[in-house]
Amino acid sequence: MEQAVTLKLKLHEPTKAKREMYQLMADRVTEFANRYLSLPKKERPRTSKEAAGISDSLPAAVLNQAIRDIRAKKKAKRFKRLWPTFNNQNFRVEREFSRDGRAVWKVSFPALEKRVGVPVAVAPYQERYLNLLLEGRARQGVARLVRRGGDWYVHLSLAVATGRRQGPEKVMGVDLGMVDLLVASVEGRTLFFSGGELAYVRRRYARLRRKLQKAGANRALKRLGDKEHRWVTDVNHKVSRRLVEFAVAHGVTKIRMEDLTGARWVFPQGREQRKDHGRSLQYWPYYQLQKFIEYKAALVGIEVEYVRPDLTSLTCSRCGETVKSRPKGRWFRCPRCGREKHVDVNAADNIAQAVSGLAT
Ligand SMILES: [Zn+2]
Repeated sequence: MEQAVTLKLKLHEPTKAKREMYQLMADRVTEFANRYLSLPKKERPRTSKEAAGISDSLPAAVLNQAIRDIRAKKKAKRFKRLWPTFNNQNFRVEREFSRDGRAVWKVSFPALEKRVGVPVAVAPYQERYLNLLLEGRARQGVARLVRRGGDWYVHLSLAVATGRRQGPEKVMGVDLGMVDLLVASVEGRTLFFSGGELAYVRRRYARLRRKLQKAGANRALKRLGDKEHRWVTDVNHKVSRRLVEFAVAHGVTKIRMEDLTGARWVFPQGREQRKDHGRSLQYWPYYQLQKFIEYKAALVGIEVEYVRPDLTSLTCSRCGETVKSRPKGRWFRCPRCGREKHVDVNAADNIAQAVSGLAT
């Protein structure tokens, strides 16, 4: 089964020169289309080679695609506007990770003089689809370059393989960070990833960074940052893969995690509460980890839901009693029912049990 979607991706702050060039290309495609339609049917070109005589220096890839578009509109007599389109050979989507762990998306396509590569603004739900595309779980259709008001977009069509996991709902709660990097819990089964190694390496890098900063060694500083970034990214890929495998093995249909972006979120060292909520340099490894879990889960048909984390580590997951302060150490001890449980497992259970009213 496949689902067709069109992603409307806004080109991120194109320069004036680029905007003018896009407009010129769109004008030329429209002119070409109308010249094409003015020809007797038998003389209409079928390839970019045959069309060269009636086009104003459009790239062959754009011309070929324009001919396809025109021919697909059998009844058209005149085009008020025909936007340039690109097939899946000529339009490319690329993903890089910025230093703060966010995916940075770029697209490239043939333009009037040469190919252009441009960053695009991508919403979280669009990112999910683009990740599927890069993983080979979605097929790329045509992309259309479109102006809406003063802004330029590409409308990218995708065919996505669908298939929700079958069976009764089974929710796994995932808690990030307090004592361990990640704890997952589903119906009494738990999976731990220790954050110890990650924290150790990040501290070591932080020390080195301070030294280099004092020495004013900017290039070395940047290399160090890149190295740390690659290392953390690698850890996150492994952890997210193991987590999703664990979920599949236990028949999980939904993964619930804390919404770090709106969270009262305490950094694992427990020293300070931050106000920038999951997106700062401190938190990017967690933010990136969630993104990886999200798209890997999507690949196997597991839904991901975010919940507000306010009380997850302050509430007893058995009787619902809340305590005033965060438990010190590894154990949550409930003053009402007396239950003792690992703090992060208790939190993961609360996340799993979150009623949908808590979902963000
Ligand atoms: Zn209790």
